[in-house]
Amino acid sequence: MDLKNLLKYQELDEKLYRVEQKLVASPYRKKASELQQIAKKAQAKSNELENKANALLKEIEEIKVKFNQNNKAFDNLLREDLDKVTLEDIDKLATLKGKILNNLNYFERSLQKYAEAINSTLLEFNKTKKHYDEARNEFMAIRTKIDEEKKVLEPEKERLQKELQVLEKDVEKNLMAEYKKRRSDNIFPVIVPLEGKNFCGRCRMELPMAAIAKIKDKGVITCEHCKRLVYVGE
Ligand SMILES: [Zn+2]
Repeated sequence: MDLKNLLKYQELDEKLYRVEQKLVASPYRKKASELQQIAKKAQAKSNELENKANALLKEIEEIKVKFNQNNKAFDNLLREDLDKVTLEDIDKLATLKGKILNNLNYFERSLQKYAEAINSTLLEFNKTKKHYDEARNEFMAIRTKIDEEKKVLEPEKERLQKELQVLEKDVEKNLMAEYKKRRSDNIFPVIVPLEGKNFCGRCRMELPMAAIAKIKDKGVITCEHCKRLVYVGE
């Protein structure tokens, strides 16, 4: 079997393979997907912060209600007509007054604490938003670069594909089909020379002697390990 035309085909196909790799494995693409992850995380974080802020606001509202109740109770206490009360009552009132004052102090401190919590949540939110905006801007810039890169590589890819179609006509049909099957599985190079007496020229696995015996007959054998076509080189 004459493999010359297939080897010629593969030589040109290597250029196409490189272009394809550049298109898929562009560093811009990698960066773009990293940035997308950052943006996603920022979004999740901002949702979390929003929920936290809402919970804090609700707690503050509850404290305000209690605070007002106590405040009112304290006011009522001050308005009590002292002439009508007994000494025992005065003791009780004094205790109650102490309790209410304590409560008011506690509520004041709580509100202070919650105000601080809200502030730090807001700060964190702003930081997250800034992070998100930065990632988004960077993403937009990179997307432009990807488009520019594509503009150059796509026509190159098409040109090579057309040239390959011409070369393909000179290659034996079944062999071409075997080649294409592997190529579409992203195996490259597809056809490699035998190394030494019985090693795959790519993955260097030892090939069984029974398979080697078939090379003469078939022209190529398949490496069971890396699935490449192996031929006897010069
Ligand atoms: Zn192999």
